[in-house]
Amino acid sequence: MNPRNGKQQITRVFDGRTHHVCLCRGFRDGLPVFGWGEAPSTLLTKGQLREARLRPNGQDPVALLVFRHVKPYARETVAELFSVELAAPKRTAAPGQMVHAMEARRTCVDCTEVQDYCVPTSTRQCWACFEIEQADRLGVAA
Ligand SMILES: [Zn+2]
Repeated sequence: MNPRNGKQQITRVFDGRTHHVCLCRGFRDGLPVFGWGEAPSTLLTKGQLREARLRPNGQDPVALLVFRHVKPYARETVAELFSVELAAPKRTAAPGQMVHAMEARRTCVDCTEVQDYCVPTSTRQCWACFEIEQADRLGVAA
């Protein structure tokens, strides 16, 4: 199929929210084929989703993008297009979440102050509170 000379056909693309009626360059594997810049703007390749910090989220491709590399071989490349509407954020923790998790590990359960070290997971107390508690125990025992 030559994307430049291919006859354009009317197709419908459902991106999970909107039915788009648009012109495509034919069909391949039952999916409408678009040239560069011709697909609805809510359809992105995997690489474009990654740039937007999204993942396909298990959806099947809704269309195909056909384009030619300018150099060196001018070969045809077909990329699957996925719907932004059905995509999901990447599972990687946001920087804010990481800071929060680290802060929780440095927070004393007794005085609730954030220490500059990780409190022991066994007691979850800062050293000051731990020592006070130990002293209290000794005091009671004495
Ligand atoms: Zn404390």
